[in-house]
Amino acid sequence: MNPVFNQPINISFPDDISLTIKREDLIHPFVSGNKFRKLKYNLIQAKVENQDTLLTFGGAFSNHIAAVAYAGKEQGFKTIGIIRGDELGDKIEENPTLKFAQENGMQFEFVSREDYRLKSENKFIEKLKNKFGDFYLVPEGGTNEFAVKGCEEILTQEDVVFNYVCCAVGTGGTISGLINSSAENQKILGFPALKGDFLQDEIRIFAKQDNWNLISDYHFGGYGKINLELIEFINAFFEKTKVPLDPIYTGKMVFGVIDLIGKKYFPAHSKILLIHTGGLQGVDGMNMKLMQKKLPILKTND
Ligand SMILES: *Cc1c(COP(=O)(O)O)cnc(C)c1O
Repeated sequence: MNPVFNQPINISFPDDISLTIKREDLIHPFVSGNKFRKLKYNLIQAKVENQDTLLTFGGAFSNHIAAVAYAGKEQGFKTIGIIRGDELGDKIEENPTLKFAQENGMQFEFVSREDYRLKSENKFIEKLKNKFGDFYLVPEGGTNEFAVKGCEEILTQEDVVFNYVCCAVGTGGTISGLINSSAENQKILGFPALKGDFLQDEIRIFAKQDNWNLISDYHFGGYGKINLELIEFINAFFEKTKVPLDPIYTGKMVFGVIDLIGKKYFPAHSKILLIHTGGLQGVDGMNMKLMQKKLPILKTND
């Protein structure tokens, strides 16, 4: 795990508001920072349970799939990925995420979208056990109590100077960890990357404080959906700050925070900490789609 640091954002905002970004993306060049955090105690638990195989679920460009393949290999586990979409089986070479996972030893099982929906049912899990033998099951997106425990290590003592902590939300594990390790006077704001109201309940399962809020206005139409405005924002932000953002999670969150500053959401003198959870491995896959649609591509390195 590479060291993480807080980087001040060199953009000036009105009312003495400042932005700082915690570079969890630097934990690993290809594995999302928060996925590393979420796997840490799950891998320890898998060893406690004497399992040598990890099985998990994900979509075609999943940061989680890439992370399980990589971290599993590093720690000597076999890994199996149940991938949503049975048309992907012969497209591994064209898909940077699946290619990376395969190169790191992950074995795939491609399932139809209908079957994928059954993934948390006992019958489906039993079938997988018959096929692959025993395994340690890491849930889709990696969220469970062990994942939350890992994410409680994101904030440190020095971060108490910030009165707002903002992060992107997928399944709610990361924000739950942030909430649990935050100080009472801090407010944790989550920016869901997908549509839907179920996240509040998910977070309440794990969160031990109520100093948090979800801001649901910046999903850009749903999970994985992006538009020209977001692409241009991410590219301009990179130009100005040299901080690369991913289009699925952190790009939408940072867009939201800066938009809210413009709308006077934050009181004067607010010190805002953005959590850069990573996700940059997905940029290549997204750029392939953007080129097909003749849209400008994301520029996240020089
Ligand atoms: C998975 C992911 C998230 C969402 O984390 P959850 O714990 O599922 O809410 C945020 N950012 C990035 C880059 C991710 O890969």
